[in-house]
Amino acid sequence: MLILLKHPLLTHKLTQLRRRETCTKDFRETLDEIAGLMAYEVTNDLPLKTVTVDTPLARFQTRELAMDIVLVPVLRAGLGMVDGITKLIPSERVGHIGMYRDHKTLEPLTYYTKLPDNLQNAIVMVLDPMLATGGSSGAAIQVLKDHGAKTIKLVCVVGVPEGVRKIEHDHPDVQIYLAGLDERLNENGYILPGLGDAGDRLFGT
Ligand code: URA
Repeated sequence: MLILLKHPLLTHKLTQLRRRETCTKDFRETLDEIAGLMAYEVTNDLPLKTVTVDTPLARFQTRELAMDIVLVPVLRAGLGMVDGITKLIPSERVGHIGMYRDHKTLEPLTYYTKLPDNLQNAIVMVLDPMLATGGSSGAAIQVLKDHGAKTIKLVCVVGVPEGVRKIEHDHPDVQIYLAGLDERLNENGYILPGLGDAGDRLFGT
């Protein structure tokens, strides 16, 4: 299921990311802020449990998050979304999945996987700024399912209908969050109008 986030601040910051003249430093800071703003919306259905706390004045029954949250950035561009979210949810654990696209076949290849234990009892957020063909995000989701993950949210910044359809088809149980839904892919698998190569822009390569 696609959830397209339309908060004006998100749209404004995404416009900054898209601009060709946005430098690496500004790109990094803005992606970080976008991830934080998205986290606020992505977490709005998290389950809560009842707890009792002692305030300085009284004992009080209140609620706190019931489930562990695990972030899994897809290397390398997904790394640019981690800090913005950890600022809001400091207790979360972070796994990593390394994928690259074969430039000829556009097929995703996994070269690195390091995940925390106990994924079955966690809400797992896959972070990947670009949802293009859906190949690498879908493959990352499959790796997580193979490691036991049951509740998975895919958090991307920009996507295209083709990528959304692929994830919806292959992983109908996964919620997809986007801040922008663009037109289409070009012949090299880049999103149009998009923002270019997110990894290159983030790391200045
Ligand atoms: N990955 C990117 O970094 N940019 C795109 O446009 C598509 C995939």
